[in-house]
Amino acid sequence: MRIYNSQSRQKEEFIPLVEGQAGVYCCGPTVYDYFHIGNARPFIMFDLLRRVLKRQGLKVTYVQNFTDIDDKMITRATREGVSVKELGDRFIAEYFRDAGALGVEPADEHPRATSFIPQIVELIEELVDKGLAYEADGDVYYSAADFPDYGKLSGQNMEDLEEGARVVVDEDKRSPMDFALWKAAKPGEPSWDSPWGKGRPGWHIECSAMSMSILGESIDIHCGGQDLIFPHHENEIAQSEGATGKPFVRYWMHNGFLNINSEKMSKSRGNFFTVRDILKEYDAEDVRMLMLSAHYRSPLNFSREMMEQARASLTRLYTVRDHLAFLMEKTENKALEPDDEAFIKDVKDTLARFDEALADDLNTAEALGALFELVYAVNTSLTERSARQAIKAAWDTLHEATGILGLITKKREELPEKVRALAEQRAQARKDRDWQKSDALRAQLTDLGYTIEDTPQGQKVRKAL
Ligand code: AMP
Ligand code: ZN
Repeated sequence: MRIYNSQSRQKEEFIPLVEGQAGVYCCGPTVYDYFHIGNARPFIMFDLLRRVLKRQGLKVTYVQNFTDIDDKMITRATREGVSVKELGDRFIAEYFRDAGALGVEPADEHPRATSFIPQIVELIEELVDKGLAYEADGDVYYSAADFPDYGKLSGQNMEDLEEGARVVVDEDKRSPMDFALWKAAKPGEPSWDSPWGKGRPGWHIECSAMSMSILGESIDIHCGGQDLIFPHHENEIAQSEGATGKPFVRYWMHNGFLNINSEKMSKSRGNFFTVRDILKEYDAEDVRMLMLSAHYRSPLNFSREMMEQARASLTRLYTVRDHLAFLMEKTENKALEPDDEAFIKDVKDTLARFDEALADDLNTAEALGALFELVYAVNTSLTERSARQAIKAAWDTLHEATGILGLITKKREELPEKVRALAEQRAQARKDRDWQKSDALRAQLTDLGYTIEDTPQGQKVRKAL
């Protein structure tokens, strides 16, 4: 597998630290609200990464955290009159509901920041001992200038960073680039004991502590949205490597933004749609198809038009699935003709191209291209006179490929008894050349919400979309 490493800014061959295994950490949501479909992009795309790594035979440990303590959590909990813990419990449950609906599998571990306070405190103590962090009035800050590699992920040097930092210097901070590891408790806020008094962790430290506690000091892959490169991931490197002296992450992967009118979709701009709302209007697979249609690093524009396009592509896949099922019913078991053999070879080559595309830094657009070549081949080469084995090869490949992408998960619906009976009567009426009766039966089927297509192989009845 080749992965574009944001740190080296090039595609690299993925070589796991331990042969046959892959440890992956993804930054998860802050659980103060429902997540929006911009957030869904990393959840879906890195869940796909996990599936692709597994398909390559790797034993993957996939970790995605929940940030369940920060200013936004505290503000919302106060507004709703619930504890921060209750708020976190509620939106973690909502996360699983929406992520599950989108076909995102639960991670192997979903650590919560508040469950790792001892590990966080221990890591901060280590940084203080090493002279990389300092205490000021119950807060603890990381001294960015004391970590020589600071800026290596985002490709910035310390002078540029300091010049660019227009932050009003916090009284207690020695330099604008320093960041909080521990924040002294304010009245009424949740807090934990520490060597610096009661307080709570800053945001960046949780990911260093949880990643290293669960996956070890060095991990294979760390992912998240591009907005996390700086400062979040830069700070994670400073914290982890500052403490251990070992490389923290071997491959950094960052997804591009889901935009709306060319602007990043985000809570703070108010230009967002929650997954919960989108799923009232569209199917979860439409959302997946939209995400898969673009490379994960490219910007992706969200619009109704794009959603309709995604839905149309998906319909093509369902239609070919139903067509293959129809052909399988009609075909007879017979020996392979040269045409069938050529088709089977074609199908195998298409699956190989599909796998190669995904192994090339998750090139989903190209993988979908291969899948639609299969659709084209089925539509142009297969008939009910094709060998069953050829039809089955297309059927199996379609399911294998869409299974990885999390598409075509809906079972084929059996036609209800009444619909089946009407369809049979219509077939008979057509045989009898009783067009009036046949038309009347079509009208009845249409009223029931079914479409009929007359093909040389007979009539195809399916639920209208
Ligand atoms: P947050 O809860 O804001 O920390 O976001 C959770 C994840 O969603 C992070 O990996 C973010 O980088 C990512 N994210 C947030 N907004 C977008 C967006 N508009 N497009 C793509 N990813 C996003
Ligand atoms: Zn993180």
